[in-house]
Amino acid sequence: MASAFRSPTRLIFVFGVMVLCSVSPVRSWSKEGHILTCRIAQKLLEAGPAHAVENLLPDYAKGDLSALCVWPDQIRHWYKYRWTSPLHFIDTPDHACSYEYSRDCHDQHGLKDMCVDGAIQNFTSQLQHYGEGTSDRRYNMTEALLFLSHFMGDIHQPMHVGFTSDEGGNTIDLRWYRHKSNLHHVWDREIILTALKEYYDKDLDLLQEDLEKNITNGLWHDDLSSWTECNDLIACPHKYASESIQLACKYGYEGVKSGETLSEDYFDTRMPIVMKRIVQGGVRLAMILNRVFSDTHADVAAT
Ligand SMILES: [Zn+2]
Repeated sequence: MASAFRSPTRLIFVFGVMVLCSVSPVRSWSKEGHILTCRIAQKLLEAGPAHAVENLLPDYAKGDLSALCVWPDQIRHWYKYRWTSPLHFIDTPDHACSYEYSRDCHDQHGLKDMCVDGAIQNFTSQLQHYGEGTSDRRYNMTEALLFLSHFMGDIHQPMHVGFTSDEGGNTIDLRWYRHKSNLHHVWDREIILTALKEYYDKDLDLLQEDLEKNITNGLWHDDLSSWTECNDLIACPHKYASESIQLACKYGYEGVKSGETLSEDYFDTRMPIVMKRIVQGGVRLAMILNRVFSDTHADVAAT
C-alpha cells in the first residue's frame, strides 16, 4: 500500500475508510495566509535545508515553496487524496477550550491520528528519512514537504482547533462588514483581506515585509526563541494546537453570536492575533525544516 501518509511507527492510517467521508466545509487559512507562512519560513532556512527544499520542489515552482503551499487544499477532494481531508483541523469538545491528543486527534469516524497534529507528526517523521536519499522509496518526500508546510499553517489558525458542533465556526453564519460570511472564514481569510485593503494597498509583498520587520527587530523579536523551543519535534505540535484552541475561545468565539455583524471592533482586536499566528507558523516551520534537513546537502537525490 503505497501512500504519502504512512508512519513507520504507526499503522493506524486506514485509507480505504476515508473514501466514504463526506465532503465537509472548507477549512483552511486562505491562500494569502499559507503563502505568507511559507514565504516567511523559506527565508529563515539555513543553507543546507534551503537546498533540500529547492531540491524537492518541482521545477515549475521555480524554487518558491509558497507557490505550492496551498496545494493540499486544492487536492483534498480528489479521489486519491480524500483521506487527507480530516488532516486540516482538529475538532475539540464544545466549550472545553482545551486540546488533548488522545481525546481529540481523530477523524469523524474515530480513526486515531487523523488530525492536523497527527499529520504534522507524520510528515515530519517522513522527512527525517530524506537524508537516506533514494534508498527509501516508501515516501514521496515532495508531498511530505508540501503537506507539512501547509499543515503548519493550518494548526496555527485558531479556528482550525475549534468546537465540534459548529465545525470550527463554519456553521456560525454572520456578516463581515456588509457581506455574508461565517466565523471560520473570518479567521481564514476576511481579517487578512481587510488588513491588506486597509493598510497595504492590497499588496501581499508589503504585508510580508511588515511582518518580517517585526520578526527581525520589532514586536516579536524577543519571542523567537520561545516560539521555536522544541525538544521533541514529534511532540511540539501538541503545543501549537493547544495555543490555537485557547485563542479560539478567548478571541474567536468570545462574544460572537450567529447572525450578527462583525466589523471594526472585531477586526481591530483580532487582526494582531491573526498576524502573529501566521508568523509563528512560518518561524516554526523553518525550525522544523532546519532540523529535519540539518545533515543534508544539496547533492542528496530527491524522492
Ligand atoms: Zn488546510
